Amino acid sequence: MSVPFVDLKWQMTIIGDEAEPRIQAVLRNCNFILGAEVEEFEKAFAAYCGCRRAIGVASGLDAIKLILRALGIGPGDEVITAANTFIATALAVSSVGATPVLVDIDRRTFNINPRLIEERITPRTKAILPVHLYGQPADMDPILDIAQRRNLLVVEDAAQGHGARYKGRRVGGLGYAAAFSFYPGKNLGACGDGGAVVTNDEGMADRIVALRNYGSKVKYHHEELGENSRLDTLQAAILSVKLKHLDEWNACRRRAAARYAESLAGVGDIFVPETIEGAEHVYHLYVVRTRQRDALMKYLLGKGIGCIIHYPVPIHLQKAYANRGWKKGDFPETEAAAQEILSLPMFAGIAEAQVDEVCTAVRSFFGA
Ligand SMILES: *Cc1c(COP(=O)(O)O)cnc(C)c1O
Repeated sequence: MSVPFVDLKWQMTIIGDEAEPRIQAVLRNCNFILGAEVEEFEKAFAAYCGCRRAIGVASGLDAIKLILRALGIGPGDEVITAANTFIATALAVSSVGATPVLVDIDRRTFNINPRLIEERITPRTKAILPVHLYGQPADMDPILDIAQRRNLLVVEDAAQGHGARYKGRRVGGLGYAAAFSFYPGKNLGACGDGGAVVTNDEGMADRIVALRNYGSKVKYHHEELGENSRLDTLQAAILSVKLKHLDEWNACRRRAAARYAESLAGVGDIFVPETIEGAEHVYHLYVVRTRQRDALMKYLLGKGIGCIIHYPVPIHLQKAYANRGWKKGDFPETEAAAQEILSLPMFAGIAEAQVDEVCTAVRSFFGA
């Protein structure tokens, strides 16, 4: 039996009956841009995150970018973020003209190592941008503590963390503002691109509302140089339906993760994901670590088991950042992880039999 890395079709069968009339309604009304469904979803998503406001935007990248713009971060400013993340995190910083400053990760969690943040702070540092990578909240208390002492703002990249909790609180409401992505494969995914900013600051929220819509509050009156970055009405309608299932779908991911851990812990040199105290991991990705990664990956793919590396080339070694002056050896934990990590199949609706199939293959690779 082959096992796909991700299966989005399952979600569509679950939401189909509920989503179709809502999609039809948008098609009938033709209110494609900023229709009532957008505000309906924004209200529901803000409540879900335990935040005052949510603003739907075009993508996760734009969500981070618009937050930074609303904070007035631009050329000459520095933003501290994790060395191990999807490139969008750093790109958002670069796209507003600011400089991304990377910090190496904690090898147990793959998230930013809070103990390495302070040495990277300079007079130009404006914000810390932790990422809740793979679905595990970053260790926020020490990060918030540093930010408070050093007078910096904390912006969460929650693109992989929908629904995750840190010490009982949902990600998204832990810092000053947070960015979410609704890329189809995310824990809460649209049927296309989408994103959201969430915040408790009404002023920031109003600013994003204008920035995403050509810098305009009143049609054809433009108070600042805005952008076109709106969440589609159609996507908002679909997201409202999916949001009601998110907790259940995350619970499914957590059950699959527990089953993986039970079967794989102690097999060969495999290191299964570790969760920090107080964190509720939502397993956007199930990432294991082994020194035999390349051989294991080849073996699994040969058996029809989907697996991917997140991410094979760290940001500081990407060609796109060649002129930033980073070099091999700058972030040793991130570089080591890139050689040893492997994401196994993980998605809402993954069956126990599918998890077992993957585990059997991994165990047989290690002769266990
Ligand atoms: C997906 C992702 C983004 C970007 O989201 P898009 O909607 O694809 O623009 C940003 N940060 C992280 C950590 C992500 O995984």
